[in-house]
Amino acid sequence: MKFRLTDLRKEILSVIDNARKPLNAKIVKKRLKSQPDFSSIYRSLDFLERQRFVYSVSFSGVKYYFTSKKGNGHFLICKECREILEFKDCVAESLQKRIQQKYNYKISEHVLYFEGLCSECQNYLHRKSKTMS
Ligand SMILES: [Zn+2]
Ligand SMILES: [Zn+2]
Repeated sequence: MKFRLTDLRKEILSVIDNARKPLNAKIVKKRLKSQPDFSSIYRSLDFLERQRFVYSVSFSGVKYYFTSKKGNGHFLICKECREILEFKDCVAESLQKRIQQKYNYKISEHVLYFEGLCSECQNYLHRKSKTMS
């Protein structure tokens, strides 16, 4: 299958492909050399996601896009500072097998993320609670 990628779509795709973590539209915009408006960025992101060039995770109502080149995505998302960390250890494979059998489904990808507090925020909140008491 061939897809026609406009220059903007190509530029956005390369920003996301080269990013080390998932990016929201705001950050994508900052990294673009051309100066498109947000509605063109959203349209392009939507297109790229529909064509599976990129995947996304939604977190607190904001979508974060990441490359589909590496297949599955595994992330830790901090509720406090919203830093996103990628982790490599896949815990889903045996679960995936069980679900495939149970629902007779052919699973091709998965995105997995855990929400919580990163170590910095844990330390910070810990110190803050100490000074308040
Ligand atoms: Zn944090
Ligand atoms: Zn996995």
